[in-house]
Amino acid sequence: MLGKIDPVISELIKGETRREKETVNLIASENYVSRAVLDAVGSLLTNKYAEGYPGKRYYDGCNIIDRIELIARQRLIKLFNADHANVQPHAGSQANMAVYLSVLKPQDTILGMDLAAGGHLTHGAKINFSGMVFNSVYYGVNRETEQLDYDEILRIAEETKPRMIVCGASSYPRIIDFKKFSEIAKKVGAYLCADIAHIAGLIAAGLHPSPVEHAEFVTGTTHKTLRGPRGGFILCQSRFASQVDRAIFPGIQGGPLVHVIAGKAVAFKEAMTRSFVSYQKKIISNSRYMACELAKRNYRIVTGGTDNHLILIDLRNKKITGIAAQQILGEAGITVNRNAIPFDPLPPNIASGIRVGTAAITTRGMGKKEIDRIINFIDEALSYQNNPSQLRLLRKRIKAFASQFPIHAR
Ligand SMILES: *Cc1c(COP(=O)(O)O)cnc(C)c1O
Repeated sequence: MLGKIDPVISELIKGETRREKETVNLIASENYVSRAVLDAVGSLLTNKYAEGYPGKRYYDGCNIIDRIELIARQRLIKLFNADHANVQPHAGSQANMAVYLSVLKPQDTILGMDLAAGGHLTHGAKINFSGMVFNSVYYGVNRETEQLDYDEILRIAEETKPRMIVCGASSYPRIIDFKKFSEIAKKVGAYLCADIAHIAGLIAAGLHPSPVEHAEFVTGTTHKTLRGPRGGFILCQSRFASQVDRAIFPGIQGGPLVHVIAGKAVAFKEAMTRSFVSYQKKIISNSRYMACELAKRNYRIVTGGTDNHLILIDLRNKKITGIAAQQILGEAGITVNRNAIPFDPLPPNIASGIRVGTAAITTRGMGKKEIDRIINFIDEALSYQNNPSQLRLLRKRIKAFASQFPIHAR
């Protein structure tokens, strides 16, 4: 049908399907959803307006939508053992925005992880609402260990007296000690918001300590390691439930994306299975193996390793910038993103490193053997900077390799 009505968009979707099938995806924030999730998100639920919450809608005809949203909420609460859940945030950014607006006033101080050190835009970056509306101050990582330094974070918190501390990151390869963060927050009288966007799947599977008992607010995305549709969620303690719900609607959003909420419900169900736990274990074992093997080939791994699904590679000794590596690997059929390394001497749009993750390739069933091949491909691609004909041949080999590992399409 789509092909008839709109052949241009139809062909572009086919093109993207081919691209996803024929490339190796090492983008740490991406994944491939199940056919069941695709079915839910591609359903006619997109037709329905459902402003409000179950039992308190502004439109009629929401009784089935109510059941879907309640199921999604209940599953999420069970998955993370939380008091209250909101499954309406359109994305992780909206989840963070709603949490801030639920208990803060404009100009209040928020202390978050510096974007340059691995934090997210919404943790107080000046170009983001979080840095425009609030007085944002930052912590980074220790220069020696390249890891969070909790004594230093406490010192900054005591000095800046934030109303809210935000922990969690977009490119931090190590365990985050949520308990220590909560001790710091208590000491300075701040709320704690733990943003688990990247590691939600690992936490749901019990492979990374959970912040739920330590933080008043937990925010996250459903589309990264959690392997659901593109979207966000909020967990909070009961006493903040109505404030958080009001901050999402009517605070910053109108009607929720109910087709996406149905997709989230499906993903939460999948995340409660034993096979999801073994998937998450495999993400970590793949990531550790990859970091080790890369190090053997003289790639400098930031912090010396990884505890989660991602690896940050400092490319300075390889005499190539992050942007150049991203581009040449992309041409070869391996997608990664350039990433600043701690204390990066280069500007972030060039960057000295790349970030790679194993969530997506693990979904495709890849293991050690395939990672060995991928590292060979990376080595080769980076050596073909001035050799377009070799690069084209490599692209063909990578396409043949990736095509052996199917993904769900619709
Ligand atoms: C990905 C991410 C988000 C949310 O991103 P959206 O693109 O808005 O869904 C929020 N926080 C962190 C730490 C992230 O990595």
